[in-house]
Amino acid sequence: MLMESFECFSPKDIGIVNNSVAMAEELVSNHFKLSATQLMNLNYDIKTLADLTKEEIVSDHFAQVIRYAVKKKNDFLDTSAKDFYKICLQDHSIIKTMNQKRNLDLFAFALYIVAHELIHVIRFQKFLQHFDAPCHEKNDEEIRVHLKTHEILSKVRLAGLNPVFKFYEKWRTVPAGLENL
Ligand SMILES: [Zn+2]
Repeated sequence: MLMESFECFSPKDIGIVNNSVAMAEELVSNHFKLSATQLMNLNYDIKTLADLTKEEIVSDHFAQVIRYAVKKKNDFLDTSAKDFYKICLQDHSIIKTMNQKRNLDLFAFALYIVAHELIHVIRFQKFLQHFDAPCHEKNDEEIRVHLKTHEILSKVRLAGLNPVFKFYEKWRTVPAGLENL
Protein backbone atom coordinates (compact mmCIF):
# COMPACT_ATOMS: atom_id res chain seq x y z
CA MET A 1 0.00 0.00 0.00
CA LEU A 2 1.22 3.50 -0.74
CA MET A 3 2.01 5.92 2.06
CA GLU A 4 -0.23 8.52 0.41
CA SER A 5 -3.30 6.39 1.02
CA PHE A 6 -3.11 6.92 4.80
CA GLU A 7 -4.87 9.97 6.13
CA CYS A 8 -2.93 11.86 8.82
CA PHE A 9 -4.33 14.07 11.55
CA SER A 10 -4.72 17.74 10.60
CA PRO A 11 -2.62 20.29 12.53
CA LYS A 12 -5.78 21.05 14.56
CA ASP A 13 -6.20 17.33 15.33
CA ILE A 14 -2.54 17.10 16.38
CA GLY A 15 -3.15 19.92 18.88
CA ILE A 16 -6.12 18.03 20.33
CA VAL A 17 -4.20 14.74 20.47
CA ASN A 18 -1.26 16.45 22.22
CA ASN A 19 -3.69 17.59 24.92
CA SER A 20 -5.07 14.06 25.21
CA VAL A 21 -1.51 12.73 25.59
CA ALA A 22 -0.70 15.23 28.36
CA MET A 23 -3.88 14.36 30.25
CA ALA A 24 -3.43 10.60 29.76
CA GLU A 25 0.14 10.78 31.09
CA GLU A 26 -1.01 12.71 34.14
CA LEU A 27 -3.94 10.42 34.93
CA VAL A 28 -2.05 7.19 34.37
CA SER A 29 1.07 8.26 36.26
CA ASN A 30 -1.09 9.49 39.15
CA HIS A 31 -2.91 6.19 39.23
CA PHE A 32 0.30 4.17 39.35
CA LYS A 33 1.86 6.76 41.70
CA LEU A 34 4.77 7.43 39.36
CA SER A 35 7.00 10.43 39.91
CA ALA A 36 8.02 12.57 36.94
CA THR A 37 11.36 10.71 36.92
CA GLN A 38 9.71 7.32 37.02
CA LEU A 39 7.45 8.38 34.17
CA MET A 40 10.48 9.47 32.17
CA ASN A 41 12.25 6.20 32.98
CA LEU A 42 9.44 4.23 31.41
CA ASN A 43 11.36 4.98 28.24
CA TYR A 44 8.55 5.43 25.75
CA ASP A 45 7.51 7.89 23.12
CA ILE A 46 4.16 8.59 21.50
CA LYS A 47 4.07 9.33 17.78
CA THR A 48 1.37 9.98 15.22
CA LEU A 49 1.27 8.61 11.68
CA ALA A 50 3.47 11.34 10.19
CA ASP A 51 6.34 10.08 12.38
CA LEU A 52 5.90 6.37 11.78
CA THR A 53 7.92 4.17 9.49
CA LYS A 54 6.11 1.92 7.00
CA GLU A 55 6.68 -1.05 9.33
CA GLU A 56 5.02 0.74 12.25
CA ILE A 57 1.76 1.37 10.39
CA VAL A 58 -1.16 -1.03 10.76
CA SER A 59 -4.75 -0.66 9.69
CA ASP A 60 -6.58 -2.90 12.14
CA HIS A 61 -5.66 -1.01 15.32
CA PHE A 62 -5.94 2.57 16.58
CA ALA A 63 -2.47 2.29 18.04
CA GLN A 64 0.23 -0.25 18.59
CA VAL A 65 3.18 -0.48 20.91
CA ILE A 66 6.46 -1.46 19.32
CA ARG A 67 9.33 -2.57 21.49
CA TYR A 68 12.82 -1.67 20.47
CA ALA A 69 14.86 -4.03 22.57
CA VAL A 70 18.14 -2.79 23.97
CA LYS A 71 21.00 -4.95 22.78
CA LYS A 72 23.03 -5.64 25.86
CA LYS A 73 26.66 -6.11 24.93
CA ASN A 74 27.70 -6.66 28.48
CA ASP A 75 25.16 -7.64 31.09
CA PHE A 76 27.34 -6.41 33.94
CA LEU A 77 27.95 -2.93 32.60
CA ASP A 78 24.57 -2.39 31.05
CA THR A 79 22.07 -3.45 33.69
CA SER A 80 20.23 -0.12 33.66
CA ALA A 81 19.53 -0.21 29.93
CA LYS A 82 15.83 -0.57 29.28
CA ASP A 83 13.85 -1.46 26.22
CA PHE A 84 12.30 1.46 24.40
CA TYR A 85 8.60 1.44 23.64
CA LYS A 86 7.16 3.45 20.78
CA ILE A 87 3.43 4.05 20.98
CA CYS A 88 2.39 4.40 17.36
CA LEU A 89 -0.95 6.15 16.89
CA GLN A 90 -2.68 5.12 13.69
CA ASP A 91 -4.31 8.38 12.57
CA HIS A 92 -6.02 6.79 9.56
CA SER A 93 -7.76 4.11 11.66
CA ILE A 94 -8.90 6.66 14.25
CA ILE A 95 -10.19 9.04 11.54
CA LYS A 96 -12.00 6.20 9.75
CA THR A 97 -13.82 5.11 12.92
CA MET A 98 -14.69 8.70 13.83
CA ASN A 99 -16.24 9.12 10.38
CA GLN A 100 -18.37 6.06 11.01
CA LYS A 101 -19.25 6.82 14.61
CA ARG A 102 -20.08 10.47 14.65
CA ASN A 103 -20.63 10.62 18.41
CA LEU A 104 -16.95 9.95 19.12
CA ASP A 105 -15.00 13.04 20.11
CA LEU A 106 -11.29 13.11 19.22
CA PHE A 107 -10.07 14.44 22.57
CA ALA A 108 -11.88 11.74 24.56
CA PHE A 109 -11.17 8.97 22.05
CA ALA A 110 -7.45 9.77 21.91
CA LEU A 111 -7.38 10.09 25.71
CA TYR A 112 -8.68 6.54 26.01
CA ILE A 113 -6.34 5.16 23.32
CA VAL A 114 -3.23 6.81 24.79
CA ALA A 115 -4.10 5.93 28.41
CA HIS A 116 -4.65 2.33 27.30
CA GLU A 117 -1.27 2.12 25.54
CA LEU A 118 0.50 3.76 28.48
CA ILE A 119 -0.92 1.11 30.80
CA HIS A 120 0.47 -1.55 28.46
CA VAL A 121 3.91 0.09 28.57
CA ILE A 122 3.87 0.36 32.37
CA ARG A 123 2.90 -3.29 32.66
CA PHE A 124 5.67 -4.33 30.25
CA GLN A 125 8.28 -2.25 32.04
CA LYS A 126 7.18 -3.53 35.44
CA PHE A 127 7.32 -7.08 34.06
CA LEU A 128 3.66 -7.59 34.94
CA GLN A 129 3.19 -8.70 31.38
CA HIS A 130 5.64 -10.22 28.92
CA PHE A 131 5.78 -8.43 25.56
CA ASP A 132 5.92 -11.71 23.63
CA ALA A 133 3.19 -13.48 25.59
CA PRO A 134 1.20 -16.26 23.93
CA CYS A 135 -2.03 -15.29 22.21
CA HIS A 136 -4.51 -16.28 24.93
CA GLU A 137 -2.48 -14.38 27.51
CA LYS A 138 -2.44 -11.35 25.25
CA ASN A 139 -6.21 -11.48 25.08
CA ASP A 140 -6.52 -11.67 28.87
CA GLU A 141 -4.09 -8.77 29.09
CA GLU A 142 -6.20 -6.74 26.67
CA ILE A 143 -9.21 -7.19 28.93
CA ARG A 144 -7.19 -6.25 32.03
CA VAL A 145 -5.87 -3.14 30.33
CA HIS A 146 -9.31 -2.09 29.09
CA LEU A 147 -10.72 -2.53 32.60
CA LYS A 148 -7.87 -0.49 34.07
CA THR A 149 -8.29 2.23 31.42
CA HIS A 150 -11.99 2.41 32.24
CA GLU A 151 -11.28 2.52 35.98
CA ILE A 152 -8.84 5.42 35.61
CA LEU A 153 -10.91 7.43 33.14
CA SER A 154 -14.19 6.89 35.03
CA LYS A 155 -12.96 9.39 37.57
CA VAL A 156 -12.70 12.09 34.91
CA ARG A 157 -15.69 14.34 34.35
CA LEU A 158 -15.73 14.56 30.59
CA ALA A 159 -18.98 14.11 28.66
CA GLY A 160 -17.11 12.92 25.56
CA LEU A 161 -15.95 9.82 27.41
CA ASN A 162 -19.41 8.21 27.62
CA PRO A 163 -19.60 7.30 23.90
CA VAL A 164 -15.99 6.07 24.13
CA PHE A 165 -16.81 3.80 27.10
CA LYS A 166 -19.81 2.52 25.16
CA PHE A 167 -17.59 1.86 22.14
CA TYR A 168 -15.23 -0.31 24.24
CA GLU A 169 -17.98 -1.96 26.29
CA LYS A 170 -17.41 -5.46 24.94
CA TRP A 171 -13.87 -5.43 26.34
CA ARG A 172 -15.15 -5.12 29.88
CA THR A 173 -16.88 -8.47 30.04
CA VAL A 174 -14.66 -10.34 32.46
CA PRO A 175 -14.29 -14.08 31.76
CA ALA A 176 -14.13 -16.47 34.73
CA GLY A 177 -10.69 -16.68 36.30
CA LEU A 178 -9.64 -13.18 35.37
CA GLU A 179 -10.94 -11.44 38.48
CA ASN A 180 -7.46 -11.15 39.91
CA LEU A 181 -6.45 -7.83 38.38
ZN1 LIG B 1 -4.28 -3.02 24.14
